[in-house]
Amino acid sequence: MIRTRSLAYAYPGGAPLRFDDLDVAQGAALLLLGPSGAGKSTWLALAAGLLTATGGTIEVAGQDLAALRGPARDAWRGRAIGFLPQKLHLSEALDVEDNLALSFFAAGLPRNAGAIAAVLSSLGVGELARRRPSQLSGGQAQRVALARSVLLAPRVILADEPTASLDDDACAASVALLRDAAGRCGATLVIATHDRRVREALADAVVHRLQARVAA
Ligand code: ADP
Ligand code: MG
Repeated sequence: MIRTRSLAYAYPGGAPLRFDDLDVAQGAALLLLGPSGAGKSTWLALAAGLLTATGGTIEVAGQDLAALRGPARDAWRGRAIGFLPQKLHLSEALDVEDNLALSFFAAGLPRNAGAIAAVLSSLGVGELARRRPSQLSGGQAQRVALARSVLLAPRVILADEPTASLDDDACAASVALLRDAAGRCGATLVIATHDRRVREALADAVVHRLQARVAA
């Protein structure tokens, strides 16, 4: 569940971006569409509690994000949010399994090797656990990043332009993987994209055209 009211964010020194109010039911899929610069990545960062709203309110999975600061917010994010960033941010210093294990540390939970193996194999990359990120194809790396985002059965999965560099078949497959992974944990799924193909691949999603207004 996500609810925003008069949500606004001003980057330091910038004019505030204002977002239309949104209500997304728990378990629903939301497509945030908009051209480059529309505010999609900013909105996702606000929903993940990576940025703090400078105006209005945002509630995610029952949590008013303004009420959480510092380490409490980090722990909440680790447990409640699965984030699939545009740049995957897999550490080359670690193999796939250890990259996923970082999520347990971030959430303050003990490492669970069985859970890591299960989520990797559910996404068809179970045999890649010992590889370094540079030894993965683009599609494999994205599956690993998706596995990381759903490892802790988040309430909300946020994906930023997940299909940007994918051909048509891989685009449809990637959206299906996100949808299935969200369905398995009952998560709300938000995909931010300017890729029109995603709309066809996610026909039953709530579509919201994001056009953050810059206040005068
Ligand atoms: P989208 O993801 O839809 O392309 P963004 O959320 O990245 O849009 O950007 C929304 C607006 O905020 C744009 O005008 C962009 O220039 C501005 N913006 C994004 N990131 C920053 C930043 N770190 N500092 C200042 N302005 C930013
Ligand atoms: Mg963006």
